[in-house]
Amino acid sequence: MNEQKTTDLISLWDASAKEKALSSRMTGDIVSDVAIVGGGFTGISTALHLAERGIECHVLEAQKIGYGGSGRNVGLVNAGLWLPPQNVRAQLGDSVGSRFVRLLGDAPAYVFSLIEKHGIECEPRRNGTIHAAHSQSGFEDLKTRCEEWRRLGAHVELLNREETADKIGTHVFHGGLLDHRAGTINPMGYVRGLARAAQAAGAMIHIGVTVNSLQSDHGKWILDTAQGRVTANRVVLATNAYSDDLWPDLKRCFTMIHYFQVATKPLGQQADFILPERQGVWDTAPVMFNIRRDDHGRILIGSMGRIFGGGHGLTQRWARRNIERLFPKLGQVEFEKSWYGQIAMTPDHLPRIFRLAEGLYTPIGYNGRGIAPGTIFGRDIAKYLSGAAENELPLPITNFHKVGSGSLKSRLYAMAFTANQVIRSL
Ligand SMILES: Cc1cc2nc3c(=O)[nH]c(=O)nc-3n(C[C@H](O)[C@H](O)[C@H](O)COP(=O)(O)OP(=O)(O)OC[C@H]3O[C@@H](n4cnc5c(N)ncnc54)[C@H](O)[C@@H]3O)c2cc1C
Repeated sequence: MNEQKTTDLISLWDASAKEKALSSRMTGDIVSDVAIVGGGFTGISTALHLAERGIECHVLEAQKIGYGGSGRNVGLVNAGLWLPPQNVRAQLGDSVGSRFVRLLGDAPAYVFSLIEKHGIECEPRRNGTIHAAHSQSGFEDLKTRCEEWRRLGAHVELLNREETADKIGTHVFHGGLLDHRAGTINPMGYVRGLARAAQAAGAMIHIGVTVNSLQSDHGKWILDTAQGRVTANRVVLATNAYSDDLWPDLKRCFTMIHYFQVATKPLGQQADFILPERQGVWDTAPVMFNIRRDDHGRILIGSMGRIFGGGHGLTQRWARRNIERLFPKLGQVEFEKSWYGQIAMTPDHLPRIFRLAEGLYTPIGYNGRGIAPGTIFGRDIAKYLSGAAENELPLPITNFHKVGSGSLKSRLYAMAFTANQVIRSL
C-alpha cells in the first residue's frame, strides 16, 4: 500500500498499485511545443510517445495521475470495442473499419509490450478475458462474434457451458468467449508506470493543475491555470469523460454514465476455485456486470451505476447478493473498498478524434474501453503531431458535433441503473 491518506484514495488500485504516485508540481509560466490536458492513459501515452520522438511536451492534470477513468476501471485489457467487428466495419466502411478493428485487436499486445519495456509494476496477466453469456441469446451472439474474430485470424475460443463453469467457478453462464489476446492489469499501476516512463523520456508532468481557460492568440494556444500560464503550439485535450467546461460543449459530445466496483478483502484459499486462471469477466446482459480477482485474492465485482450507501448500503447488498448467486459455496465475505467512475458513451459506440480548432485535438468517447484504445490513440496522436500522415491515425479526424440530449439520457440511464441495482440486491 502506498502512503496517500486513505480518504484521498479514489479506488482500490490507488492503494494497491506498487508504482509510486507522481508528485511534480508546476511553478511559474511555461512555453512548450505541445500541452496535454489530462493525466490518464490518453494524455500520458501521448506524452510518452511525443517525448520519445524528442518533442517538448507538458501534461497538466487537475488532480493526480489516473484520477479519471484510468485509475478507477476494472483493469480488463480488452481487444476491440464493445461493438462486434462486423458492426464497426458497417459503421466506418470497409477500409477504415477493417484497419481500426485490426489496430484495436492488436492493442492489448502493445499495452503488455509497454509494461515489459518499462518494467511497469501493475499485476499484468495475459490469460485472456471472458465475455460470458447471461442467456441463450447472449450465447448465440457470442457465437457470431467468435466466428467473425476467427475469420479475422484472432486467437479466440468459444467455451461451452461446462468449460465456462470451469474457468469462472460458477454454473450460471450459458457459455463464454475467451479472448486470448486480452488480459488484466492494475490500471493505476499501469498509468503511473507510463507516467514514470514518460518523465524518463523527457516529458514534463504536473499534477494539481486545473486548466481554467484555453484561448488562441496569434497562432499560439494560451492555457491559464492558478499556477501560471502555459503557451503551446499544439494542444491535446485528454479529458474524456471527465471533461469540464474548459472547451465549450465538449462534454456534450457524449452521454456520461457511471460504472461502479466493489472489492472484497483478500479471500485466501476459500476462493481458489473462482477464476483460477485469473481471466477478467464481463457478461452479455444489457446492464452488464463484471467480475475479476486481483493478485492478492480479492474479488472485484461491479456494474453500471453509482455507489449507494456505505457498509450496509444498497451497493454492498447488491455485491453480496451477486457473489452469493454466482458462488454459493464461498460463504460470507467482507468488503474492503467501493468506488465508481465516469464513462463517455457516444451514440454509435465509436470513439472520436475531433479537431476542435487549428492545432487543438481531442480523442474522446471510448465507451468503457479505454486501456488499450487510450494507449493507442495517445501513441498515434503523438505520431501525428510529429509529422505522420492523418490517415495513420486510428480514426479520421472529424469536426466537433454535440449529442442533442446527452444530459437527459445520462439522467435516464442513471435511473435505470439504480432500479437495476435495487432489483438485483433483493
Ligand atoms: C468503473 C470503470 C470501469 C472501467 N473498466 C474498464 C476496463 O475494464 N477496461 C477498459 O479498457 N476500460 C475501462 N473503463 C474505461 C477507461 O477507464 C477509460 O476509457 C479511460 O480511463 C479513459 O482514459 P483517458 O486518459 O482518456 O481519460 P481519464 O483517465 O478519464 O483522464 C481524464 C483526466 O483529465 C483531467 N482533467 C479534466 N479536466 C481537466 C482540466 N480542466 N485541467 C486539467 N485536468 C483535467 C481529469 O482530472 C482526469 O484525470 C472503465 C471506466 C470506469 C469508470
